[in-house]
Amino acid sequence: MIIVMKKNATQEQIARTVEWIESVGYRPHPSHGVERTIIGAVGDARVPEYIKVIEQLSGVEKAIPILKPYKLASREFRGDDTVIQAGYVEIGGPRFVVVAGPCAIEGEEQIMESAYIAKKGGADILRGGAFKPRTSPYSFQGMGEEGLKLLRRAGDSVGLPVITEVLNTEEADIVAEYADILQIGARNVQNFALLKRVGKSKKPVLLKRGMMTTIEELLMSAEYILSSGNDKVILCERGIRTFETATRNTLDISAVPVLKDLTHLPVMVDPSHAAGAWKLVLPLSRGALAVGADGIMIEMHPRPEQAVSDGMQSLKPERYYAFMDEIRKIEGLIRPLSEVGR
Ligand code: PEP
Ligand code: MN
Repeated sequence: MIIVMKKNATQEQIARTVEWIESVGYRPHPSHGVERTIIGAVGDARVPEYIKVIEQLSGVEKAIPILKPYKLASREFRGDDTVIQAGYVEIGGPRFVVVAGPCAIEGEEQIMESAYIAKKGGADILRGGAFKPRTSPYSFQGMGEEGLKLLRRAGDSVGLPVITEVLNTEEADIVAEYADILQIGARNVQNFALLKRVGKSKKPVLLKRGMMTTIEELLMSAEYILSSGNDKVILCERGIRTFETATRNTLDISAVPVLKDLTHLPVMVDPSHAAGAWKLVLPLSRGALAVGADGIMIEMHPRPEQAVSDGMQSLKPERYYAFMDEIRKIEGLIRPLSEVGR
């Protein structure tokens, strides 16, 4: 339910409406626009008939039911695009945001070099996994807290915000201590305990679509984070499982405009994990930019042939520089307000 306040509603009327929403067992999510305040009231799906009496409260213009199963994530709840701040970087604004870095943090030299290369090429955010969700328990599992410290130091040394994955609820606090953005990986997209946990964090969350989740399920997962109190959610399409075997996963490029229609949240694309091959990263990134994604996350490594994970899909430095030149050029054509090369 969306409660639209009158244009001239007073602070007191808004406060009383919020109290009333709480008194009937719903959670209020006020959103103060330039013109007026609207309040999302979410809770039990069985909306009691009497909630309609809220229209009788002074200062309330009307109450509109949200028909979609996700509420706070929907365009009905917020018409304008949400812009999320991570350090000095804005995600969801005019700038096409590029996140670049290795799959995993492997050591001090590797992540420091990666940070330097990422910055030199013009990326906005540095990535690197410290807790890795590996298909095999025998594969490298990540450097843990030591890796988080190195990532933070590497980001700070070149002035880039950092993103890294949170694998489970126990590590949420420690990751939030070091990272500017918390990443929820494809395999955890429906780990509801983890979603609720990062929903309590003040840090932005990049939520990856699972290999087997529909767009609606992805939005329901975002709703878990939003309804737990964190309104800074970025969605990320990273390929889904289909019958096709030529690529690691199938990048669902249509998910971008579909999501842009259904939600106000920023939408990013990870072509590296979708394709599993460095050669496809540029064409898929061009596609992401052209269909209106707010940014991309790509894997880059100083020496991909020595990478402990995902070397096949990681760009080596020279390729990464050429890649960034081309992406920023196309960005200048497609998004003229983006201050390319800032
Ligand atoms: C990653 O970005 O490091 C990763 C593991 O990706 P995904 O969760 O999309 O597989
Ligand atoms: Mn990877």
